[in-house]
Amino acid sequence: MEYRYMGKTGLQLSLLSFGSWVTFHKQFEDNTADTLMGMAYDAGINFFDNAEAYAGGESELMMGRVLKQKNWERSSYVVSSKAFFGLRGKDNKPNQHGLSRKHLFEACHDALKRLQLDYLDLFYCHRPDPNVPIEEVVWTMHNLIQQGKVLYWGTSQWSAAEIMEAHKVAQQYRLVGPTVEQPQYNMFERFKMEQDYLPVFRSVGLGTTIWSPLATGFLTGKYLNEIPEGSRLSMDTFKWLRERWLQEGKIEKLKQLVKLADELGVSMASLAIAWTIKNPHVTTAILGASKKEQLTENLKALDALKVLTPEVMERIEGILLNKPALDLN
Ligand code: NDP
Repeated sequence: MEYRYMGKTGLQLSLLSFGSWVTFHKQFEDNTADTLMGMAYDAGINFFDNAEAYAGGESELMMGRVLKQKNWERSSYVVSSKAFFGLRGKDNKPNQHGLSRKHLFEACHDALKRLQLDYLDLFYCHRPDPNVPIEEVVWTMHNLIQQGKVLYWGTSQWSAAEIMEAHKVAQQYRLVGPTVEQPQYNMFERFKMEQDYLPVFRSVGLGTTIWSPLATGFLTGKYLNEIPEGSRLSMDTFKWLRERWLQEGKIEKLKQLVKLADELGVSMASLAIAWTIKNPHVTTAILGASKKEQLTENLKALDALKVLTPEVMERIEGILLNKPALDLN
């Protein structure tokens, strides 16, 4: 396993990490979570990602039970939580979601209880909140860090302008600013990582913990002919994901990528993940897996990096034809 420093911080994250969205509690119970986290840890993965919103808090409860059972040295792994969406979706009451001082404070405490931990290594603002002054957000995160409940704070799906606004406030009041962002980044979703954040990487620095490197499973190629039963895109709640990914243009490109993966002797899943982690601005790509075989396959992305020669990257670019126009590199 390779480890990368998280932006300009001293924290090292494994290049591949493991997350719990959809899978924990909704798709499997404790024994599978225990197996998959054990496989991940044994492969050198040191970062486990979570959020208050995942399965309404049940995902953190499950990860907390597994961590307790595993009894790994606390110094050997990094755990995150995120706040914004609250536990109950549409049924949240006022103050039970968003980025107010009240919700961030309570969400942090509740995550610690559910995860059975003394501190969160990473705590994210899961989305920007236009209703809360940025000063309130930065002060709250700074206070949580001072209280020893959080080590690093970050953002998820914020724009570069929003991240820089937080830094401006942090500099003005001498507070700890955000050091990590969690964006989506995969072959079909490139704007933030390859264009918007470039000035942020250069100036203040920014670690990135990437979500959906497989475009929620689409980039494995398994949806090309049908929607397999029990798969994420087969679930009623994910109509929006079917609409996002099962589009003719994307399907046509993916068919060509699958052919290329075959020619290179690697699986489409490992090729897609390798493509994501090849970007040096990526600190870690968070893997999701509902089965052991998937995690075994996806860990091969580290080997698949070797086939990504400049020529192969050019061929991939020739298929995707979606490189952000303004490349400041
Ligand atoms: P991926 O894009 O890698 O999708 C993972 C899913 O794809 C699996 O659960 C599985 O679903 C399917 N899959 C994975 N590998 C294979 C394989 N080899 N063969 C066939 N199917 C496969 O990542 P996620 O979308 O799960 O995101 C990863 C993590 O990122 C999450 O767990 C979460 O921690 C974080 N995240 C953060 C977000 C944010 O807003 N900050 C948003 C989304 C995720 P199945 O078997 O059900 O088809």
